[in-house]
Formats: sequence, C-alpha cells, structure tokens
Amino acid sequence: MEKDYEFVKQQLGPCGVNCGKCFAFSGGNIYDLSKQLKKALGNFDIYAKRFVELLEEPVFLKYPEFKEFLDYLAEQKCKGCRNERCKLSKTCQVRSCSEKKNVDYCFQCEEFPCANTGFDEHLYKRYVEINMRMKKIGVEAYYEETKNLPRYR
Ligand code: SF4
Ligand code: SF4
Repeated sequence: MEKDYEFVKQQLGPCGVNCGKCFAFSGGNIYDLSKQLKKALGNFDIYAKRFVELLEEPVFLKYPEFKEFLDYLAEQKCKGCRNERCKLSKTCQVRSCSEKKNVDYCFQCEEFPCANTGFDEHLYKRYVEINMRMKKIGVEAYYEETKNLPRYR
C-alpha cells in the first residue's frame, strides 16, 4: 500500500533526498542492518585471528578495520533533515530556505530549480532529477518507486 504524504515527508528531505536510506539516519536500513550484523558476529574477533591460520585466509586480518567501520555504521547519528541539521551536507541551504518559502519540497517552490542550494555538482544534479520526478508523479508515488533502490547509486 502506498505510504501517505506525512509518512513520506519524514523520510525525504525538502531537497527530495531520502534521509531514511542515509547511512547516518538512526532507524534507517543501513543502521538497522549494521546493528543486526554486529549482533550476529558476536565475539568474532578471536575467531578472525584463528581463521587466518585455519583457513589460510589473510583476509581475516582485515577484521579489526571492518569491525571499526561496522561499529561506526551502527551508531546513532542523525534524526533526519526534518528534525535536525544535516550532518553531511554542511553547506545545505535548502532546509532553511524551504521553511522560509513555506514549501515541503523544492519542486513546490516557484524558484525551482534555483542556484541557492549550496550543493556540490553531484548533489545538485540529483536534487533536480528527484524534484522533477516528484513533480511529475507525486511525492508518494516517487517514494514507492525508489524505496527499494540503494541510496548510493
Ligand atoms: S539530514 Fe543529512 S545526515 Fe541526517 S539523515 Fe538526512 S541526509 Fe543523512
Ligand atoms: S528557493 Fe531554491 S532552495 Fe529555496 S525552496 Fe525554492 S527551490 Fe528550494
């Protein structure tokens, strides 16, 4: 069943990017899956050392770095753009600007697409594409269309 407008608004920022899929989003799928993997691995540290010799697989020497990164992904970091300032795009102007313009998403603003986002070239391109698509098919349908795609593509 298609999710409603308010639910989708908690997932997508005013730029249209899906905070719910961001690695930093507490409660997002990357965060949840990282916590699950951490739990499933348990005390793998001592086994990783053993597997280097038992399996003659030097890849297990990399476990400490992998674990450090997994711990990082499994930490609470951000409640999403609708609730706090973005931790990743520090130059973002969209959140405060959309509040001033009183729009939920940039495509609802008469100035879209504007030069006021503060985004780099990559993010700007995505912002334009996402908003054009939301404008065409609606916010809820856009969410449904993309909800199972990876955020980083
Ligand atoms: S506000 Fe920024 S850091 Fe936070 S979840 Fe959204 S994209 Fe990620
Ligand atoms: S001026 Fe630009 S950043 Fe601000 S709400 Fe409109 S389209 Fe978005």
